[in-house]
Amino acid sequence: SVVRTPEIQAARLELPVVGEEQKLMEAIHNNNVVVVCGATGSGKTTQVPQFLFEAGYGSPNSPTPGLIGVTQPRKVAAVSMSKRVGQELGDRSDTVAYQIRFEGTTDDKTAIKFMTDGVLLREVASDISLIKYSAIIIDEAHERSVNTDILIGMLSRVVKLREELAEEDPKISPLKLIIMSATFRVDDVTKNPRLFQTPPPILNVEGRQHPVTVHFARQTKHDYVEEAFKKITAGHRKLPPGGFLVFLTGHDEIVRLSKKLKQAAGGLNPVAYPKVRMSATDAPMEVEDIEFGDVNDSTGIDDYNDNSDAEDEDEEDGMFDIPDETSGGPLKMHILPLYSLLPTREQMRVFEEPPEGSRQIILATNVAETSLTIPGIRYVFDCGRAKERKYNKDNGVQSYEISWISKASANQRSGRAGRTGPGHCYRLYSSAVYERDFAPFAEPELLRMPIEGVVLQLKAMRLQHVVNFPFPTPPDRQSIASAEQLLRYLSAITDTGSVTPIGTTMSKFPLPPRFARILLIGHLHDCLPYTIALVAGLSVAEVFIPEGQAIPAIAQTEDRLRTNEDIAAENRQSLARKKFNEVHRNFKSLDDASDAMKLLQAVAEFAHEPTEQWCEDHFVRFKSLQETQKLRKQITSLLQKDIPAFVNLTYKDKLDRPSPKQITALKQMVAAGFIDQVAIRADLAPVPPELYRKPRRAIDVPYLPLKPLSSGSRSDDIADKAVFIHPSSCLAHQSLQELPEYIIYSNLQRAAPSPEMLKKPKTRMIALTDIT
Ligand code: ADP
Ligand code: MG
Repeated sequence: SVVRTPEIQAARLELPVVGEEQKLMEAIHNNNVVVVCGATGSGKTTQVPQFLFEAGYGSPNSPTPGLIGVTQPRKVAAVSMSKRVGQELGDRSDTVAYQIRFEGTTDDKTAIKFMTDGVLLREVASDISLIKYSAIIIDEAHERSVNTDILIGMLSRVVKLREELAEEDPKISPLKLIIMSATFRVDDVTKNPRLFQTPPPILNVEGRQHPVTVHFARQTKHDYVEEAFKKITAGHRKLPPGGFLVFLTGHDEIVRLSKKLKQAAGGLNPVAYPKVRMSATDAPMEVEDIEFGDVNDSTGIDDYNDNSDAEDEDEEDGMFDIPDETSGGPLKMHILPLYSLLPTREQMRVFEEPPEGSRQIILATNVAETSLTIPGIRYVFDCGRAKERKYNKDNGVQSYEISWISKASANQRSGRAGRTGPGHCYRLYSSAVYERDFAPFAEPELLRMPIEGVVLQLKAMRLQHVVNFPFPTPPDRQSIASAEQLLRYLSAITDTGSVTPIGTTMSKFPLPPRFARILLIGHLHDCLPYTIALVAGLSVAEVFIPEGQAIPAIAQTEDRLRTNEDIAAENRQSLARKKFNEVHRNFKSLDDASDAMKLLQAVAEFAHEPTEQWCEDHFVRFKSLQETQKLRKQITSLLQKDIPAFVNLTYKDKLDRPSPKQITALKQMVAAGFIDQVAIRADLAPVPPELYRKPRRAIDVPYLPLKPLSSGSRSDDIADKAVFIHPSSCLAHQSLQELPEYIIYSNLQRAAPSPEMLKKPKTRMIALTDIT
């Protein structure tokens, strides 16, 4: 049994889920699949694993010695929840561990293993009976991440298999599956006979731990960052102590708001906040090119007209009518960002106590939406939006759009205020908008992205007919068909749709099929170490920091005289821009027309000097590049283990410069992985389209993709058919004569149309390489 500290013991007794322990354990005893539904903060994530542990799951001498596995959709959650459960287990804290893609703490004492759902998915792929485990908890199922959905489908089969094995061999115990969620469309799981023939019992845990009062805004403002700024500064003045957690949609909004708050706190007049001025080098860009794919204020949702007659500019908006019980003098703001690209060490800072006499103000994206308990947060400010990847199934064009979250997400967000005490949630939108425009639940991620990776995984597990897989919400047939088409191009499956030996090998890599394909031909001309480094670079998020983010914006001086400070700021900025251009020129020294080679060079140079300072000096992201190092090692050892021809492969951290011959070969390998994503310069096409105006800049030169953009549309407008070089590509700086005939691209993007945009947004290629 477990000896817990008195504080933990007392805290546990207050959690609603603890009152249900007996009922829950009985349900688990009598059923192999159980669904647990409970409000956020009811204690699901921290307590249910402990119930299982105390009932003997995961203990070597019990009838159920296998591990208790707990999955989380996000890494931060897997790490921080394992720490919390470890603490709660007092003298048995060493039985809790975590495993995420590159790191883990499991050892032979581990009984409870927190992991990302991706980690468990790989384990199912190598052992379909999951014999190591006696119980699996799938947490946050309502998030409907692709991995969670696939896991639920897979595990419905694993449970059956283990039932059969247990009948044959009394030493084997059946697997217990517990699906947990806060607000879940449980019908997708419980009333889905393809998934579970007999519907699993649902255990509802009532009530949250602490009440959260929700306040809606009287009106919904378009510029929600500005609105957040007003509400936060007013709230900070008026509200009793307690941390703020602010939900925004992305990194740039967080930076913008944080600057603004710091400036305001520094005593500057917030009304005089500087506008970003465009410099001469920015000027030739179109509106859509600035922060492309990250466009602020482009929700396309324009509801503030609702209230256009309301003149209410009262910044308090009636929201803060809570009596100010404690007037303990002005607090300082302690502002912390929290988003996924932030280095883990900095993410973990939000769990630290704020300095004496200050209020913690966390500006977060939806990484903070579920699972996490940040102690001390009493107030949530929710902008009600999120940035989501949208994917057009017809032509593969991706866009990032800011849109309303679901009611379920809004609930999750407000729940963050009631974790360690009663709290308040200030919604920066009106209840009318909430009722009218918020969907009850988020659309499953599986329906919003290309699924070739999923299809290959399933096929490698001998599920040839993917349509028959028990998805909680099945993808449409067209998505499956285009995934199969691509897998055929990559030689991963045969014409009849069964997996090839190449496909089987590809499925073993924790990489998208295209990258796996590149690796498997990567040994030609002794290129393998480079191919590995390149694929590692391609698989991490955003190595290069875009110019707009790398170079600080400076104040506009139009309506006043320039001061010495202004001049100094301008000088600093032009120096920074010079340095930025120079760094990027150097990254192109292997090849000046191939973004893939530029990426390879950044990855390889980082290995020679893997420091934060180097990254800062080179305008690249430390966290992403660190991940490339880990991935390079991991891929190397996978190749060694799984492919007989590579047993002698050794990992070499520092690579020499590739030869020109190798560079050519590398570019061809990239092309092989993206064989279907090629575009030809429109003027060189068999039937060149008519151009109204001669392009003057590289980024205006039309290319025609091999896969037509719009099927069936007979529009003559070149913008509907052509794709263009993205301004961040190294090709954007080439002269028009030099532009390659063919370009291989990794994806197509289109900015969401926004009211301030005059022209239709162009479809942009994220270019990988020219082919020579
Ligand atoms: P659920 O999964 O149902 O949303 P959790 O099990 O994550 O709930 O958390 C239940 C409660 O445990 C929280 O509301 C909070 O009071 C407490 N708790 C969880 N993690 C921590 C932590 N790191 N520090 C302090 N309290 C915590
Ligand atoms: Mg939870």
